[in-house]
Amino acid sequence: QKDRSRGDQETEQSDWVTVRDTDAPNVFVGYDQDEATAHLLRYRKTEKKGKAEYQLVFDQTPFYAESGGQIGDTGYLESDFDKVRVIDTRKENDLIIHTTLDLPQDLKAEFRARPDAARRTLIRNNHTATHLLQAALRRVLGEHVQQKGSLVNEKLLRFDFSHFTKVTDAQLREIEQLVNERIRQQIPLDERRNVPIAEAKNLGAMALFGEKYGEFVRVITFDKEYSVELCGGLHVANTGSIGYFKIISESAVGAGLRRIEAVTAGAAEAFVDQQLDLLGEVREALGNPQHLLTSLEKQTEEIATLRKQIESFAQQSLNQQKAQLVGQVKDLSGVKFLAAQVQATSADDLKKLAYDLRQAVPGLVLVLGTEIDGKPQLAVMLDDELAKGGKLNATTLVRELAKEIQGGGGGQPFFATAGGKNAAGLGAAIAKAEALVSKSL
Ligand SMILES: [Zn+2]
Repeated sequence: QKDRSRGDQETEQSDWVTVRDTDAPNVFVGYDQDEATAHLLRYRKTEKKGKAEYQLVFDQTPFYAESGGQIGDTGYLESDFDKVRVIDTRKENDLIIHTTLDLPQDLKAEFRARPDAARRTLIRNNHTATHLLQAALRRVLGEHVQQKGSLVNEKLLRFDFSHFTKVTDAQLREIEQLVNERIRQQIPLDERRNVPIAEAKNLGAMALFGEKYGEFVRVITFDKEYSVELCGGLHVANTGSIGYFKIISESAVGAGLRRIEAVTAGAAEAFVDQQLDLLGEVREALGNPQHLLTSLEKQTEEIATLRKQIESFAQQSLNQQKAQLVGQVKDLSGVKFLAAQVQATSADDLKKLAYDLRQAVPGLVLVLGTEIDGKPQLAVMLDDELAKGGKLNATTLVRELAKEIQGGGGGQPFFATAGGKNAAGLGAAIAKAEALVSKSL
């Protein structure tokens, strides 16, 4: 018998199959044990897009179910006959559910439940680091800082908190230094379970606003003067094992809500190495200067100076061309006409030259062609009176001429431009202009 879960048409879930008929609750023993003996109580099959998965519930388990931002454990379930991979652990109601791809052959066997130890060490490091981070944030930024969410997995930790401005680079350094100082102090974990909630609050324990807590809570302390939190997650026995803490990003995720992402231990080392490698590559690309920043500033200045010089040369060239072109204007059926191929370094240059010529020669019909980075460009400019007269139209003209350069374009009645693919056709386009204009007049 199968029933489809709501909202996801492609997930099918079978009913629970009882293996051991017992009222015994499934107990989490992972605070004290890294592995444990486990007996299967029940299982069910789920099918997602044709892929089968099994969900297993045991009498006791060291596998941590995703909670409080900490990711669920992965690992193995081993018996004399089987070794089954656990790909995720989650909590549903009060059940700790182990997800596997295979069902063990002997369901009644005694299993050894072994979470991935190396992965779990990384998760512990990152989780404890969020506690050290929260305390550091409150010291550096102020008591208004409240945890608004977190994510802890084997790769990184993410911490969202209330704060109204960007955390400055200097503040981030101070926060990092504070956390790393606490790591070097090798502060032992002080874990207290089943503490009455009132007592925990008296200890000054940080709780998540809006989170529902039971009558009894677990209090995690790393130096009672520094960090006291209500928390159900897994932690290092001693802050020293975190090794190193490094913030990799700080950003806004909402109004008055900031996010810090950080790494610890080997991942923090790798991050710093990566940054140093990048710096080394930049240094090398600049020819290994003694003072990197000075050298970079000098280059930037040089580029700015050169750019100004190029602009000035281009302007000179345009002025020279303009003077020559004015001399080439001829009379065509009663209008002043000029069609020429010119040199321009950009479309803006071509436009500028066209406007300059229009101003210099009243009553002008102008067609300019140029090649920019191997691509042909055309510009047609008409005196206002001519454009209003209606016999000539810059857009119509440029579209007709653009056929010669395998292109197209458009614009206004008095000014239009076109680009094309065939630069070899520029001469033909320029030559065609005279015939077209005289025919229209
Ligand atoms: Zn925690």
